[in-house]
Amino acid sequence: MRSAFYSMLLIILLLTGCGNDTQKDLTLTGSDIEMTEMSDETKTTETTDATEIYVDETTSIDEIEVDVSLKPNEAGKIMILMYHSIGQENSAWEITPQAFREDLEYLYQNNYRPIALKDYVRGEINVPAGYTPVVLTFDDGNRNNFNIFDDKENLKIDPDCAVGIMQAYNQKYEDFNITATFFVFGTNPFRQQKLYDYKLRYLIDSGYDIGNHTYHHIYLNQLQSSEEIQEELGKMNNFFKETLPDYKIESFSIPYGIHPTEDLKPYMLQGEFEGISYNHIVAVEVGWNPAYSCFDSRFSAHSLPRIRASQTADHSESEEWFKYFEEKPELKFVSDGYSDIVTAPTSMADLIDEELLGEKRLYIYEE
Ligand SMILES: [Zn+2]
Repeated sequence: MRSAFYSMLLIILLLTGCGNDTQKDLTLTGSDIEMTEMSDETKTTETTDATEIYVDETTSIDEIEVDVSLKPNEAGKIMILMYHSIGQENSAWEITPQAFREDLEYLYQNNYRPIALKDYVRGEINVPAGYTPVVLTFDDGNRNNFNIFDDKENLKIDPDCAVGIMQAYNQKYEDFNITATFFVFGTNPFRQQKLYDYKLRYLIDSGYDIGNHTYHHIYLNQLQSSEEIQEELGKMNNFFKETLPDYKIESFSIPYGIHPTEDLKPYMLQGEFEGISYNHIVAVEVGWNPAYSCFDSRFSAHSLPRIRASQTADHSESEEWFKYFEEKPELKFVSDGYSDIVTAPTSMADLIDEELLGEKRLYIYEE
């Protein structure tokens, strides 16, 4: 890839149509249902705004004009929002379609841009300078996450399910390319048996991700042996392998946020069942805080906290954290716009672990 970089600053302009690659009409024709095997050309994993600037490594860091007036801070925190149901009421594990739309509107208007969980974990945070990444996740594969109206002639995505709402927002704002990870369990994700494989394929082809949430949505602390835990995770992985043979499951969501015993913990990330191995680069918790920057020495991809995006009568955790970062903007991650450079103000510089930078270079500026 390096050979593709130019010796001078090269601004990768917004790729025309890039955003459109991940968007599909909400109305699907009957023939779309046959398209579970799409050609490579029609697939896309493009999930982020292509407004990053790439810099050749021979360019001195002093020559690079990071716009410090935007207060870039890539040592700041990132919110991973955890949703479950989109439904009739606002409660601990469910929010209404309207409340979800309000969250997306808030995020857009306040310069948050969704990125994929796996990109965050890999330190590939591609949002434009001055913007803040946010990660969206949905647990349990409820039907209201991805519901399809099937009247035999046409398949139509329910405009009030999570996918319908996100697709509508992808179209509403050109520079708001939404992606999310759906953590599902069992053999009927999204609860329409005839359509589960279509839905999984649709999500992958539209730039979303699928994650493992165990086979039985089990309490991991009840498992007694390495065989048992590998069966729980591996069976789910094998189901995905059958349905999506060309897709790699890399994310795991810990059911109820309850960990297995210490000796079984490594199997949340790696293991094998019936001769097929699984390999997760990230495990997410249930609750309750923003996550550290992927360049922060305290960052641990094996235990990433999430913020419950819920709205009970007297409490909304997500709104509380939205307000928190309005009041303390200096604590949130703000992109410098450069893919190969990690920028932070002097006050945050100590947080960065240079070993987490990989080939990226560090740029510290005086506030
Ligand atoms: Zn769950």
